[in-house]
Amino acid sequence: PFEFQGKHVTVAGLGVSGVPAAKVLHGLGARVTVVNDGDDERARAQAAELEQLGVTVRLGDGATLPEGTDLIVTAPGWKPDKPLFAAAGRAGVPVWGDVELAWRLRGPDAAPWLAVTGTNGKTTTVRMLAAILEAAGLRTAAVGNIGVSLLDAVLGEERYDVLAVELSSYQLHWAPSLRAHSAAVLNLAPDHLDWHGSMEAYAADKGRIYEGNRVACVYNVDAGDKPSTEDLVREADVEEGCRAVGFTLGTPGPSQLGVVEGILVDRAFVENRQKNAQELAEVSDVNPPAPHNIANALAAAALARAFGVPAGAVRDGLRAFTPDAHRIAHVGDVDGVAYIDDSKATNTHAAQASLAAYEPIVWIAGGLAKGATFDELVAGSAKRLRGVVLIGQDRALIREALARHAPEVPVVDLDRTDTGAMLQAVREARRLARPGDTVLLAPACASMDMFANYNKRGDAFAQAVRELGA
Ligand code: ADP
Repeated sequence: PFEFQGKHVTVAGLGVSGVPAAKVLHGLGARVTVVNDGDDERARAQAAELEQLGVTVRLGDGATLPEGTDLIVTAPGWKPDKPLFAAAGRAGVPVWGDVELAWRLRGPDAAPWLAVTGTNGKTTTVRMLAAILEAAGLRTAAVGNIGVSLLDAVLGEERYDVLAVELSSYQLHWAPSLRAHSAAVLNLAPDHLDWHGSMEAYAADKGRIYEGNRVACVYNVDAGDKPSTEDLVREADVEEGCRAVGFTLGTPGPSQLGVVEGILVDRAFVENRQKNAQELAEVSDVNPPAPHNIANALAAAALARAFGVPAGAVRDGLRAFTPDAHRIAHVGDVDGVAYIDDSKATNTHAAQASLAAYEPIVWIAGGLAKGATFDELVAGSAKRLRGVVLIGQDRALIREALARHAPEVPVVDLDRTDTGAMLQAVREARRLARPGDTVLLAPACASMDMFANYNKRGDAFAQAVRELGA
């Protein structure tokens, strides 16, 4: 165990992970300095609160390594190529993320972790998993990159039997010693490549979730791209007896979960030795029963079953689950046109899932592309598009892909990134749409060029639809 007493710990970044981390470290007797790039009003308020406790805060300077630093605890979003980390590397100072800190402090003792990562479907799967564990009568919570923070979960008063943990690729990058009970990688598509530097580096960070797994490494049989999630399992160093468990939308092989005639079945964890498969639930128990969401349900079921949850609790948990907002949410109908908010589709892989679910579509897209390319998405969806309305900073990338693969589809290119642009976008979409069409907000991009986050973007869309209808 790391001895914090008297050590100089530098916390990189204020905010949702930095402020609680600084408080906890201070409470453990460490000398804490927080460094932060920004120097705005919010940062000053947070700094004032920490300074009262005796924490040193440096605003507007996140690049310089404070003298005598023994350890850096970083906000997960900080890019590995930052000068602060180069300085730490030269000085031999270790760098932990918020997840690593929680794990080192009390991770294994607080409760076993069932961990989920993937390019898309993490939040949905973790919520499904928590619902299943609850239906089994277990004390649990959905934690991590969602709801309760990991630090609160492992250090708080509440006692848990097991935790359903969502982990981002950033968090995994900074969590070298994490060892989960079991873990799943849902899928792997290019995202955040500007942060990780390459697809290989991104996949390697996701694959870290399998390291040291004790019971099951859950992978996606159907996602055969290179590297596949099964490749990541093969490369991981797991504990003896840990099994590779696949999930598929097709008929499952041995050691897999899958779908047979509308029933979710488990061939990996079969209780009755007379049978070679265990029925878990019906496809119609999954809300909504779209293909990508059935995959999420199978992954959640695999992790729950690895923890010993009976089949009946899987069904009850899936029935109890309701999706979070901004994930393919029907926000209204105007003049026979349905308006769907999938603002959470912040990358092309997610947008593909919702673009595949409707036809004809008037598609509202654009924002921050994060290094993505749009050819595959646009080529695959071209047939279903009635028209496209583009918003946001990187919309030219989508416009150019449309010109290459869907030259006949009308495109309205809104040259604005202010918040009011959403109302105009929805008005333009209405002009393009005919009765029976779907207007789909599935931006395939991050929202931060125009909005505080994807929630605000989805709210602006829903508000604009209400104004159309009024
Ligand atoms: P995450 O937490 O990984 O961002 P969410 O569950 O919040 O995932 O869903 C994000 C977006 O991805 C939503 O737009 C949703 O429609 C889409 N999505 C959810 N699950 C999948 C999946 N298994 N494959 C592809 N897209 C998905």
